[in-house]
Amino acid sequence: MGQTLYDKLFDSHTVALLPSGQYQLFMGLHLLHEVTSPQAFSSLDERGLSVTYPERSFATADHIIPTHNRLRPLQDPLAEEMLGALEGNVTRHGIPFFSPARREQGIVHVLGPELGLTQPGMMICCGDSHTSTHGAFGSLAFGIGTSQVRDVLATQTLTMNRLKVRKIEIFGKLRPGVYAKDVALYVINRLGVQGGVGFTYEYAGEVVDRFSMDERMTLCNMSIEGGARAGYVNPDATTYEYLRGRRFAPSAANWDRAVQYWESVRSDADAVYADVVRLDGSAIEPMVTWGITPGQSVGVSGAVPELTSFPPNERETAEEAYRYMSFEPGQAISGTKVDVAFIGSCTNGRLSDFEEVARLIQKSQRKVAPGVRALIVPGSQDVRQALIDRGYDKLFTDAGFEFREPGCSMCLAMNPDKLTGRQVCASSSNRNFKGRQGSPSGRTLLMSPAMVAAAALAGSVTDARQLFDLR
Ligand code: SF4
Repeated sequence: MGQTLYDKLFDSHTVALLPSGQYQLFMGLHLLHEVTSPQAFSSLDERGLSVTYPERSFATADHIIPTHNRLRPLQDPLAEEMLGALEGNVTRHGIPFFSPARREQGIVHVLGPELGLTQPGMMICCGDSHTSTHGAFGSLAFGIGTSQVRDVLATQTLTMNRLKVRKIEIFGKLRPGVYAKDVALYVINRLGVQGGVGFTYEYAGEVVDRFSMDERMTLCNMSIEGGARAGYVNPDATTYEYLRGRRFAPSAANWDRAVQYWESVRSDADAVYADVVRLDGSAIEPMVTWGITPGQSVGVSGAVPELTSFPPNERETAEEAYRYMSFEPGQAISGTKVDVAFIGSCTNGRLSDFEEVARLIQKSQRKVAPGVRALIVPGSQDVRQALIDRGYDKLFTDAGFEFREPGCSMCLAMNPDKLTGRQVCASSSNRNFKGRQGSPSGRTLLMSPAMVAAAALAGSVTDARQLFDLR
C-alpha cells in the first residue's frame, strides 16, 4: 500500500515513540523571529542549556518592525526591546540572523523560501501559525508555541501526535481574475474553519499543479485558517526550478542527489488518504470575507448569507459577525466602502503578488480613491528591491499608494501600522478576527491582492474582473 508524503516524512523523522503515545520528531529547519523567541531563549538560559543545532536555526525580524522609520532605537520601546533581545540571543548562540540593518530582513515565511532554506522533504517549525506556508515545497511545516520553540532550540525535536491526511483536489481551470487567495478562501468556506482539525491537507489537482510556487505558498499559508495543522503540495519540476541557484539550495554538485530525494518523498500514486475532497476550480469567484473568521466569505457577486443558511452550531458566530461588521444578512458585499487597503503579509507579500497589482494599476490608469489610505508592504527586502528595480515603487506612489519597508505591518498591527476606530480595511492578509489590525473595533475584509487594489482604486469592494477588464 502506498504512502503519502506526510507518512513518509513523519516516519523518516521519528526519533522516538514516547510513553504518552506521541512522537518525537527531528526538525530540519527552525525559523525564529522576535516575538515568540525571547522567552524561549530566557527559559533556555535559566536551565543552562545551549542551542543544539544553531546551523539549523535562522532568525529574522518581522512582526514588530516599523515599515516607515527604522532608526534605532525604534520609537516603540517594546519593539526596541524585542529586537535588541533577538540580536543578543542570536549573537550569543551563533544563530544566523537576517537583519534589517543589513537589508536582508523579511517576513519569516517569505524569507525562508526566498533564500532556499525551505526545501522538499524537510520538517520545519517556527513560532508562528502560518508556518504551514513552507508546505508548498513538499515539506511538513508546523507553527509552534513559545515553550516548543525552547524545546526545539534545546533538542531540535518536537513532540507531536500523528495526523490524518485529507487530499484536496482542485480540478478544472481558474477563471481570469481568480487567484490562489480565492482558492484558499473558497476551501475554508467549503470545509469550515474547524474542518481541518486533526488533519494535514495535501493540495493537488490540475489547478494546484499549474500554480507557481508563490501561488502554492498562498494556498498552504491559509491551511491553518481551515483548522489543519499543516498543508503541503507534492514537490515537482516547478518546485525544483524555483529552488535552483538560491543561496541555501543544494549546490550544482549535490543537485541531482537532492532532486532524487525530493522525488522519493512525493505521495505514492496508490497512497491512502483519510479523506478526499474534490472542488471545481472553475466554480470559484473572487472571494471576500464579510465576517470575523476566514470561513465567513462570499463570492464578490454574492451577498452576506442569511442566518438560516448556517447550521445551528454556527449561528451564534454569524450573528456576532453581523453585529461586529455592521452587515445585514442579504446585503451585497460589493459596494462596501473601505477606508484602508493593505497589500502585503506572508500570504500575499511576494513579488508576483505586487507584479500583478502593478500590471492592473498600469492597465486601469486609475488612482487611489479620495479618502482611502493604501499601503504596499513588500514581504522582504529582496521583494522590495525587485519592485524598485522594475520601477514599480514609483508606479505605486504615483497611483497614491504608500510604498513601505518590509514587515508584517497591518496584518496584525504589532508595529505602528494600525487601523483606527471602526475603519474598514480591504486586506490581502489571512486573518479577519476582531481587532486583528490594531483597532479593537476595526473591520477586516480578506481578499486577493487584485481585489484589494480594485477596492483601493474604487473606494469600495469592487469586482476586480470588471474594474480591470479581466477576461
Ligand atoms: S504576515 Fe501576519 S500571519 Fe504572516 S507572519 Fe506576519 S503576522 Fe503572522
